[in-house]
Amino acid sequence: MKLFLASGNAHKVRELQDLARETVPGVAIESAKAVGGMPPVVEDTGTFVGNARKKARALHALLPPDGWALADDSGICVDALGGLPGVESAYFAGPEGDDGANLRKLVEKMRGVPREQRGAHYVCVLVLIAPNGAEQVFRGECHGRLLDDPVGSGGFGYDPLFVPEGFDRTFGLLSEETKQAHSHRARAWAEVAAWINTSKA
Ligand code: IMP
Repeated sequence: MKLFLASGNAHKVRELQDLARETVPGVAIESAKAVGGMPPVVEDTGTFVGNARKKARALHALLPPDGWALADDSGICVDALGGLPGVESAYFAGPEGDDGANLRKLVEKMRGVPREQRGAHYVCVLVLIAPNGAEQVFRGECHGRLLDDPVGSGGFGYDPLFVPEGFDRTFGLLSEETKQAHSHRARAWAEVAAWINTSKA
C-alpha cells in the first residue's frame, strides 16, 4: 500500500510519517512532493471534514492508479472563544498562515481570562481515499487548557500555549514521544491504522 499525504505542512507530514512507521509496517508513506507537490486548495467549507475531503480529493486526482490519499485538517477550539479559531486555526491572524502571528493573536484574545475558563481542545480529521475512490473519515481530539503565555519551542502552531489533560506542561515543552502518544493527530491516526490493519488494504 502506497499512501500519499495531502499536506504541505512539514510538521504534520513528519508527525504522520512517524506515527505510521510505528503502527502500519509495510505501508510506504510519501509526501505530496513525490507527485509534484500539494495542489492549492481553498479551505472554505467551514468544517474540518469538508476541508480534509477537499484536500484528499485534490491529491487523489494526481496519484498513480494504486495510490491512496490521506489528508489532515486540524485546529484548536477554545471554549472561551465559542470554539474559535477552529477550522480557521491556520489563518487566525491573516491569510499568510503565520504560526507565530496566530499564536500571538490567541495569547492576546485570552488575556485576562481566568484559569477555570481556559479550556481548549485540538481536533484532527483525517480523510483516506482508496485507489477506487472510496472515502473513510477518522477523527481525534486532545483536550486541555491554555496557559497565559507560550512556554517551550517543541511541536508547532499553538503547542507552546496548550497543556494537555493529565500534564502540567505544554506540548511546546513535553517530549515528541509524549505528543505522539496523546495528540489529536495520534488519536485520529490510531483509527486509520486499525482500519488499515483490519481491512488488509
Ligand atoms: P490546516 O492546515 O488548515 O489543517 O490548519 C491546521 C492549523 O491548526 C495549523 O496551522 C495550526 O495552527 C493548528 N494545529 C493543528 N494541529 C496542531 C498541532 O498539533 N499543534 C499545534 N497547532 C496545530
